[in-house]
Amino acid sequence: MGRNGHALRISVIGTGYLGLTHAVCMADLGHQVLAIDVDADKIAKAARGEVPFFEPGLEPLLRKNLESGRLRFTGSFADVGEFGDVHFLCVGTPQAPGGDADLSHLYAAVDALAPHLTRESLLVGKSTVPVGTARLLLAKARAAAQAGDLVDLAWNPEFLREGYAVRDSLTPDRIVLGVTSGRAERILRQVYATPLATGIPALTMDLETAELVKVAANAFLATKISFINVMAEMCEAAGADVLQLADAIGLDERIGRKFLSPGLGFGGGCLPKDIRAFRAAAAERGVNSLVGLLTTVDAINLGRRARVAELTRSAVGGDLAGKRIAVLGVAFKPNSDDIRDSPGLDICDRLSAEGALVTVHDPVAMANAARVRPGLRYVDSVGEAAQDAEVVLHLTEWSDYRAIDPAALAEIVAKPVLIDARCTLDVGLWREAGWTVHVPGRP
Ligand code: NAD
Repeated sequence: MGRNGHALRISVIGTGYLGLTHAVCMADLGHQVLAIDVDADKIAKAARGEVPFFEPGLEPLLRKNLESGRLRFTGSFADVGEFGDVHFLCVGTPQAPGGDADLSHLYAAVDALAPHLTRESLLVGKSTVPVGTARLLLAKARAAAQAGDLVDLAWNPEFLREGYAVRDSLTPDRIVLGVTSGRAERILRQVYATPLATGIPALTMDLETAELVKVAANAFLATKISFINVMAEMCEAAGADVLQLADAIGLDERIGRKFLSPGLGFGGGCLPKDIRAFRAAAAERGVNSLVGLLTTVDAINLGRRARVAELTRSAVGGDLAGKRIAVLGVAFKPNSDDIRDSPGLDICDRLSAEGALVTVHDPVAMANAARVRPGLRYVDSVGEAAQDAEVVLHLTEWSDYRAIDPAALAEIVAKPVLIDARCTLDVGLWREAGWTVHVPGRP
């Protein structure tokens, strides 16, 4: 028994951003945890106490739980089947070429695990999936498992935010339990006994609703961001200030200020692919109004990237060829090294395609960026990035960038022109230091 008196033997399949965090947090709640990934390097690193990505607070918690003996890693699905009573599916569900979700990792994980399920066990899906996936996985698992119908499956979508993953995993706003049996619900309540005891609400529902809750939440957040970004376009056209507008409407508690930040829009490994997969699922079922909504949200979002590229082009007089551009930030958001569908990298691509010489700085995401965009120039300081630049682009709102001394930076650029695409710098300070500043949506 762990310290919570409800300890279970849990496996976690897939140890990326979601799975590694989940495995560590499950162990920290007192459960015995065995985690597996097909990437042997990731497993080896994690077993040594190294987190292979940037996530504040995760590494000390990983080490603590390795030392306690509650958390272990393996490369063998036979070990996992033997060990676990509850198996969390945390593998990736990336975007397929047509925009729908690529479920091949999820199917492969169940194919690999099911032959080792020889007794009553519960699979729990955490990955983000199109509605209907859970029932297909359940049928697949039961057909291949020796334990047959003793294998059950629940859906327990994850809402963690990169950068706050540990806090969000240990103290989520709510826990969604998609189940088809009372037994599955009881087990999941045991898994989450510690957070539930603090009053965090658990919502029990069917598998389909649980699958939809996750994508609906992401669709709402994406819509909110695209909403404020079209307001930015309107403000720009009308000579108004979108930041003041966001503050004013955000104080209405029916609206709320969070996710109402105008700027470069959303990116990352979740929101963009999740709304596209949701659109594909809606199209398949003929829910055309949802297809229309999500198509618009996506187009508005991508339009922000085009707009910043256009502002950059006009800032250098219309021709980007041979122009030095400094890019501050390519992580899709601060406190993360994730560059999946990064708005910053997208803008680098657009500018490079027109012959601009792009130099990139990011506090933690440069190694990841260099792997996918080896052709860009990467430097270790803001100063090196800005050296002789004709435009400085602020593309990820790292707090480090709010501490930049604009007067010192003005000394080393070719022209003091700033585009604050994230609308978070102290524009007054930059202007006082002699900079020409463009902020989309602000006068
Ligand atoms: P990721 O790419 O970081 O991690 C996925 C991991 O699964 C990789 O380490 C990969 O090697 C492993 N994997 C792939 N196939 C496997 C298999 N057959 N067996 C074992 N391991 C396998 O992705 P992620 O960001 O952790 O996302 C995982 C899922 O969680 C996605 O569905 C995503 O939408 C969802 N999600 C992510 C977040 C987030 O903030 N990253 C938040 C909520 C939900």
